[in-house]
Amino acid sequence: MTIDLRSDTVTRPTREMLAAMVSADTGDDVYGEDPAVLALEERVADLLGHEAALFTVSGSLANGLAVRSLVPTGQEMLCEALAHVVRAELGSHAAVYGVTTRTWAHPRGHIDLEVIRRMMMPDAGPYLVSTRAIVVENTHNFAGGTIQPLADLRALRKLVDETGRDAVSGGGRGAAGVQLHLDGARLWNAHVASGVPLRVYGQLFDTVSVCLSKGLGAPVGSVLAGGAGLIEEARVWRKRLGAGWRQAGVLAAAGLYAIENHIERLAEDHENAAMIARIIADADPSVLDTERVETNVVLLDVGDRAAWLVARSRDEGVLSSIVAPGIVRLMTHLDLSAADARRAAEIVATLLES
Ligand SMILES: *Cc1c(COP(=O)(O)O)cnc(C)c1O
Repeated sequence: MTIDLRSDTVTRPTREMLAAMVSADTGDDVYGEDPAVLALEERVADLLGHEAALFTVSGSLANGLAVRSLVPTGQEMLCEALAHVVRAELGSHAAVYGVTTRTWAHPRGHIDLEVIRRMMMPDAGPYLVSTRAIVVENTHNFAGGTIQPLADLRALRKLVDETGRDAVSGGGRGAAGVQLHLDGARLWNAHVASGVPLRVYGQLFDTVSVCLSKGLGAPVGSVLAGGAGLIEEARVWRKRLGAGWRQAGVLAAAGLYAIENHIERLAEDHENAAMIARIIADADPSVLDTERVETNVVLLDVGDRAAWLVARSRDEGVLSSIVAPGIVRLMTHLDLSAADARRAAEIVATLLES
């Protein structure tokens, strides 16, 4: 049997989740009349400490709607160089929303406050691009599922708020136009691994997106949380982009089920990732540092062996992916047992030793 470690998106709904979907109370969500969708939106807004939320078909759409609402056409967002928004959303921020991007780079995908301080220009006048949003990813996928240190997030919030006060007299939070978006596709993993409450993370940002279809194991969907006015506008733009949906409650019910039942168990995924990392590092310590495996992502720096390793692992029944030149990713998830995690790690370890 194949063990699929390409991504945590490959999970399929459990029997209990399917039962919740089948019994969902639904209505037309374009009319705002789907009880399950409304319940999901309210639940996520509350968990993240925001006024309102919007259920979307994907995390890319949730991020796009957030950035679009924070950054006027032709102005910029800043993010880390390996962020999903700039690497994996196929240029939508530029191609669809008219947003330009500059990046900073950090080996663990963290915030580099001093570099951001020097890059950020909230009010650049008519000659230069003005910075309007900073996007932070937590956990940071392509940096290896790393957790953003809470102190860094607080320092960034403070920097943005102080810049706001300088730029607009009497302006409040984010008033100068530099606002913070959290790409929290795996915020659940950060929360479980760090013990920081979701609401503490959520309230440091103006907008937050979370995925239901990754570690939580729902088949489809993300949620964008923010202020009531911003979410109302995002709802209009969702429809404008053709992504308004009708009886989406069958999907929302899966998300609600996942939130109630699949958050705490993410600790198992983290244990399985740590085990995979240990077994592989024992075989070939040159390909990873086990200290760097913080959540459910294991990155192997295998150089020119990457394509060979992915192909040979596939022959042995283990699926993995290449996420950057020379970098192979193994991801743990709901559909992976500890026994299969061990078996997959032993297969990869044996190949690396050969
Ligand atoms: C998966 C992911 C998203 C959203 O992806 P979709 O496939 O569009 O749902 C956003 N950010 C990060 C970090 C992700 O891993």
